[in-house]
Amino acid sequence: MNVIGSNSTGPNAERAPIPPIADVNLLRQWLYDCSTKHLHPQDPLDQNSRIGKVLRRGVLRAINTTTGQIETHDSLVPFVALSYVWGQTVHLTPSLESKTIADYAPSIRDAAELAGSMNIAWLWVDRMCINQSDETEKTFLIPYIKDIFAAAQLTIISAAGDGAHNGLPGTKSTPREKESIVEVTNGPERFSLLSSQPSFNALRGWTFEEQVFSSRVLYIFPTEMIFSCCKGTFRESSRLHFSSGAAGSGWGDNGATPPIVAAEINAKIHSTLPDSGHALSARDFVRAVEEYTSRSLTVEEDRVIAFAGLITLSGGNPGSQFPERALLKHGHPPQFFETALTWQHEESFQKRQPRNRKLFVPSWSWASAGTKVYFLDNGEENG
Ligand SMILES: [Zn+2]
Repeated sequence: MNVIGSNSTGPNAERAPIPPIADVNLLRQWLYDCSTKHLHPQDPLDQNSRIGKVLRRGVLRAINTTTGQIETHDSLVPFVALSYVWGQTVHLTPSLESKTIADYAPSIRDAAELAGSMNIAWLWVDRMCINQSDETEKTFLIPYIKDIFAAAQLTIISAAGDGAHNGLPGTKSTPREKESIVEVTNGPERFSLLSSQPSFNALRGWTFEEQVFSSRVLYIFPTEMIFSCCKGTFRESSRLHFSSGAAGSGWGDNGATPPIVAAEINAKIHSTLPDSGHALSARDFVRAVEEYTSRSLTVEEDRVIAFAGLITLSGGNPGSQFPERALLKHGHPPQFFETALTWQHEESFQKRQPRNRKLFVPSWSWASAGTKVYFLDNGEENG
């Protein structure tokens, strides 16, 4: 519980009740403060950059947040990227199909509303903006999805609900329940209490890459929106107050694992100069695998693909010596290959069995474990 309206001090001592609909002026202020005060280094956008390759191929499409039309872009426009759980019913919706905003699944509709209210005209949603019936395009784009998230002005990560039908709590179309304050009297002392926020249990494996590569993330939890960049976090409950430090480090997590490793790697990527190559150490890589495998995926056989960006990031200069698709296969980047072989898992864990193995993963790969894995000695920098 958070104490409000008392004399208590400390990081969780005082907070404001959260309204059913998030204050869009607050969201705008967060984005404005981040873009004007934090001085995040930007990746250069040239013809040879990774996002430049996606643009040249003519496959960077985005939804117009006013009209709903999906349009192809040959230069980079400011856009919001959405990360959400697809759920079961979304498979019926073909991608690239023109519709109005109201015709999209609720989570996409609400993300368009949020993007528009922050004056960002475009929304990228993998399911809608990648031609799902074109295997060549999908194969090309998978290693570049991390670059699309990195190029977005803001990534919205939905940590609410189990599908696109849920909507994003705190928007006009999907208001939250009114938060109730509990009054407690202890002798002469009176306390007003609000429940702790929020739980990271809702974060899924597919959001790991978004957390690592996005420059800014707006997390939509069922009860609160939280803005995070590599410099720290803003949250609705603390209004404009900005707290520095890795995302999750000061959050009430109720026993869940906060995305500490994802936030650390994010800070490493976004605070170094672009030409440093963003190389991960062996230790970064195995810690990322440990955190990533602690999360669940809707479809267990996506385990390697949903980690593809981390694997290509660890693979040195992608596209030179090792084709990206070869790296994606088993989740072991070449220079950490042997280190990655030392994974272990606890016998007591229930295996998350794939429903069908469309992608072969050999038994030596950590991705075959189907459970949280760990590495006994991950202190060595060079494997
Ligand atoms: Zn920032």
